[in-house]
Amino acid sequence: MEALIPVINKLQDVFNTVGADVIQLPQIAVVGTQSSGKSSVLESLVGRDLLPRGTGVVTRRPLILQLVHVDPGDARKNDDGNGGEEWGKFLHTKSQIYTDFEEIRQEIENETERISGNNKGISEEPIHLKIFSPSVVNLTLVDLPGITKVPVGDQPQDIEVQIKDLILKHISNPNCIILAVTAANTDMATSEALKVAREVDPDGRRTLAVVTKLDLMDAGTDAMDVLMGRVIPVKLGLIGVVNRSQLDINNRKSVTDAIRDEHAFLQKKYPSLANRNGTKYLARTLNRLLMHHIRDCLPNLKTRINVLAAQYQSLLSSYGEPVEDQSATLLQLITKFATEYCNTIEGTAKYIETRHSLSCLFFAIVYSFFNLLHT
Ligand code: GDP
Ligand code: MG
Repeated sequence: MEALIPVINKLQDVFNTVGADVIQLPQIAVVGTQSSGKSSVLESLVGRDLLPRGTGVVTRRPLILQLVHVDPGDARKNDDGNGGEEWGKFLHTKSQIYTDFEEIRQEIENETERISGNNKGISEEPIHLKIFSPSVVNLTLVDLPGITKVPVGDQPQDIEVQIKDLILKHISNPNCIILAVTAANTDMATSEALKVAREVDPDGRRTLAVVTKLDLMDAGTDAMDVLMGRVIPVKLGLIGVVNRSQLDINNRKSVTDAIRDEHAFLQKKYPSLANRNGTKYLARTLNRLLMHHIRDCLPNLKTRINVLAAQYQSLLSSYGEPVEDQSATLLQLITKFATEYCNTIEGTAKYIETRHSLSCLFFAIVYSFFNLLHT
């Protein structure tokens, strides 16, 4: 089953490159209010420091992040012959390879500023990034700007509506799994993430809730009821995580340390729920959901491809037969066209033949024009 995902990723690349939104493919998008920890969740899933995170508006363009699992033995060979373990590639920098994740983050920031300016502006044009690594599962993730209410900096007055539209554009795709991120130190009943997810997925068939900041809850409170689904039930489940705090980011705490500390925290605070929460469990759940999703989507996808193929085939045949006799001169083609034209008037030719002749004539004229240019 796992082999299916790289194929889907490749298809997505092709459609993105040709700028067509012809076939909607399964992917996982993160939604939630600004600073709820969306980028942090994605980053811990990737297992590397690569996304710009922080307080205030940080994610200002959608980021389409494809994780590609490579076997350790298949590590990329550098020009100097040294094997690279993990690397990234952006669509906008073509074949350039990034092995330094700090550089990847810098490139995301630069590319964000290039389109969205440097004063908190938001753009709906996505950045495409691929990460190849032996330590990731095959997933396509979309990081989105967070829901805000009040415009800041260069943001227009209707920023709330614009961001919501942008989010809806990505998550209304029925083949998208929604990761609705809510901070544990806010009331689940006020969760904008779940609200926006319900707009496009009222039955909750493709929404998974992630509860961040378990470590930041008020003294005397815990997330037991929330994690058990007693406050708001979510069909696919609620998974609690602990990401790195701003201080951890400033101190450059590694993802590995963060995951170890998260595990210790869960064991201590929620021993009965520890094996059904945390970043590792989230990654496994997501992979499983994606596989099921792709399997469910395949028959539909196949029908759509067949319909499209049939449409283009009939369009192609409406242009007529190709010119088979390459040696035919322009005069011969025009004579053939003229004869068929006369036949049409006399009522002895079929309509389609005239169409064939017309297209022959067109190609012949273009052909002669190029010949003229070359002589
Ligand atoms: P986004 O705007 O939703 O993408 O949020 P970010 O991932 O950029 O995180 C916003 C801030 O919250 C950052 O300073 C993070 O360090 C912090 N943060 C996110 N998740 C957690 C968490 O689980 N615990 C703690 N203590 N801080 C967190
Ligand atoms: Mg973010």
